[in-house]
Amino acid sequence: MHALSNADLHCHSKVSDGTLEPEALAARAKAQGVELWALTDHDEVAGQQRALEAALAQGLPYLTGTEISVTFANKVVHIVGLGFDHTNEALKAGLKATRGGREPRAREMAEGLAKVGIEGAFEGALHYVGNPELISRTHFARWLVDAGHCSDVPEVFRRFLTEGKPGFVPHRWATLRDALRWVHDAGGMTVIAHPARYGFTPTEEYALFIEFQAHGGRGLEVVTGSHTAAEAVKYGDMALEFNFLASRGSDFHSPDESHTELGSLPNLPGKLNPVWLELQHRIHYPGA
Ligand code: AMP
Ligand code: MN
Ligand code: MN
Ligand code: MN
Repeated sequence: MHALSNADLHCHSKVSDGTLEPEALAARAKAQGVELWALTDHDEVAGQQRALEAALAQGLPYLTGTEISVTFANKVVHIVGLGFDHTNEALKAGLKATRGGREPRAREMAEGLAKVGIEGAFEGALHYVGNPELISRTHFARWLVDAGHCSDVPEVFRRFLTEGKPGFVPHRWATLRDALRWVHDAGGMTVIAHPARYGFTPTEEYALFIEFQAHGGRGLEVVTGSHTAAEAVKYGDMALEFNFLASRGSDFHSPDESHTELGSLPNLPGKLNPVWLELQHRIHYPGA
């Protein structure tokens, strides 16, 4: 039997800020040759049962997943949780609490945009939301493009939705400690998502890795649609240095917006230990 290599353990559905339903993603993952899949919606597990059933119906092994927004050193860090019990009440309650901040934040974002002459952004963004508890910057970005304010989503982020720009609202997300505890207590493993994206100084990054490990975190996303090839090399080396397990995921959101298709990333370098070997007992297999 050949060793599993095409694992895609990071993507989003309409249950957060993706544009496809979990069932469509399962079919797409299968068609793209994915051998192990996880749907990792932001701060939400409501799509997990659907993703699990759709994956198994496609003959595709499945790990449960989520991507939790965390505030660390005054920046936002994303933690991917994998292989947990998605019916765990404490996990669901923790995620629900962290989602609760999104609506007031979105209203404030709309106020900021109104000040630069963009009216109706809250209502506009709401039209793009699949889950009313999960209004995100991505939904604002899609509305701003379709309303003709910008030509594409990255431009919206650059001009309006990043720190210092009119639609940006600083926000307190979950603590690192809580996010890790929710996932671990539900039987899962945690992974630092796209580590190159945070803009940390080496000192801040070291603090994140050490604190993450101290709270039982074990994985680092090395190969991701959010990393360049050079960043993947750098974080592969750091995974070895810190003795992290390595993860791989496209961070696919939409056929129209995502640069990286499901299941189309380079393999993890052979010297790394993949997260999925340690998650064997948590994988749902078709027909099992
Ligand atoms: P939020 O959780 O509301 O802060 O939204 C964060 C989401 O916005 C991320 O999960 C990405 O999907 C998207 N995003 C963040 N930065 C960018 C960017 N520069 N260009 C495009 N999408 C982005
Ligand atoms: Mn997203
Ligand atoms: Mn992310
Ligand atoms: Mn993501």
